[in-house]
Amino acid sequence: MSILKKTWSVVDIKSESHIMKIRFWGTRGSIAVPGKETIMYGGNTTCLEMTLESGKKIIIDAGTGIRALGNKLLAEKEPIDVHLLITHIHWDHILGFPFFDPLYETSTKISIEGFPTCMKGLRSTFDNRMGDGFFPLKFDDLKAEIQYQDKLSKGALEIDGLVVDSIFLQHPQGGYGYRFREGGKTLVFLTDNELREDAWIGRTPKEYAEFCKDADILIHDAQYIPKEIDDRRGWGHSDYTSAFDLAHEANVKRLILFHHDPSRSDLEVAAIRVSCEDLAVRSNSSMIVEAAQENSELEL
Ligand SMILES: [Zn+2]
Ligand SMILES: [Zn+2]
Repeated sequence: MSILKKTWSVVDIKSESHIMKIRFWGTRGSIAVPGKETIMYGGNTTCLEMTLESGKKIIIDAGTGIRALGNKLLAEKEPIDVHLLITHIHWDHILGFPFFDPLYETSTKISIEGFPTCMKGLRSTFDNRMGDGFFPLKFDDLKAEIQYQDKLSKGALEIDGLVVDSIFLQHPQGGYGYRFREGGKTLVFLTDNELREDAWIGRTPKEYAEFCKDADILIHDAQYIPKEIDDRRGWGHSDYTSAFDLAHEANVKRLILFHHDPSRSDLEVAAIRVSCEDLAVRSNSSMIVEAAQENSELEL
């Protein structure tokens, strides 16, 4: 079996009536880093595919990983009707958008939601207005039916029985983290989030812990190791010890470390996972700790 096909260890947390699937198409922070050092955890930037019990698909972020996801969706030859949730508009979360080929099909429907600047960001990957040179095509030339309703800034979003709540991230220019609840299961996705007591521009760790309380899965930013963090205060990312502390405080069952630093090789990401597992052992916690791996799939 190819290492790229490896799936997560199977943990029996399936509900009988609801199965939500999450596939990682991009796990890397800051910039795409293809190469032999990043084969296992992946070199593409943030993109996740969530498939609900109803079959409805939700895409989180449009980093470079969204290109391969688009190709897979087109190969399925089914009508594409997806929600695209954007956490924030830093390049590593939107730059794959023009390469999402379903955008060029008239049959595609995309409902965009997310941080209030998200449409500005997605449009800017093509042009600011009237095609001003960032990409060969204009945003207004896209064939897909694209809608933006800005529901999340007003409250929870409901999609086919899934409830999506958002929380402000502690990150330069801000952003949204998301909590997804369906059929008694909870998944929380907090990337590009700097956990620190002074609640610099977001929330305190205690407030994030309330948001994550008893989650089955927490996917959290763990870009740094503890000795790096002091030189990187204000950059809007966490080290794995803060991510673990949050998950432990919130009684999370499974922690997935995410937004791997572009300088980190597969071996170094694996070492971070092992160090974080050690924290769980030393805290007498039964929490499962993993590092997000491109092309792997979670079920809950
Ligand atoms: Zn990022
Ligand atoms: Zn960011």
